[in-house]
Amino acid sequence: MEFPGNAGLLLNEARGNSVRVIRGLKIRGKKRRKAMGGYEYCGLFRVADHWMTVGKEGFLVCQFKLVKLAPGETPKAKPIAPPIEDTPVEEQVRRAVEYQRLVRNSKVVRAVKEMYGNTCQMCETRLQVSPEGEAYSEAAHIRALGKPHNGPDVLGNVLCLCANCHALFDRGALQLSDHLDVLDGLTRTIKGKLKKVREHEIKVEFVRHHRQRWDDRFSTPIDHKS
Ligand SMILES: [Zn+2]
Repeated sequence: MEFPGNAGLLLNEARGNSVRVIRGLKIRGKKRRKAMGGYEYCGLFRVADHWMTVGKEGFLVCQFKLVKLAPGETPKAKPIAPPIEDTPVEEQVRRAVEYQRLVRNSKVVRAVKEMYGNTCQMCETRLQVSPEGEAYSEAAHIRALGKPHNGPDVLGNVLCLCANCHALFDRGALQLSDHLDVLDGLTRTIKGKLKKVREHEIKVEFVRHHRQRWDDRFSTPIDHKS
């Protein structure tokens, strides 16, 4: 993913993302101008370094060193360390953005939505959003992605849910038993059975990890009989 502008180049440097470089051409002939629109695509680069200098008009200018990538080379993604001066809100925003980025790029997320045709595995709601039948669903990671839970982005750790069930699940108001019953997370009584296709193997360790996050709400174990 690329971010535009100087701030974007800084972000791309921090994250190890590649950037596409397009250069304005010195126009030599009308034909060329027509063909290229006055611009030339120079390929993929990584942002290797940046520094501040004083420009002609006395303003501080941020300059970047771009290194062209070899064909097929992808820059190594760097771990993202939060800046020390982040406030709790900034930290939350940064995490949310990072989480969205992880989710958007995930093949697993697309796969689980396809597997269930965007129908919620908990309440069977399918939110149709276009006359053509397009539907909206969300992929919920059972053991959450990112810090501090560090759940993996694998099919065994992901559910296809509607927006409501996703919100409730992420806050522990819906949970799953080891047998994949849908539990009311506030009373831990069984509400129903999770809808599941055979090829979707949900790992019990992730379900337990999710439940354990909310364990301090309860003094009694789950009642499997009710
Ligand atoms: Zn639902």
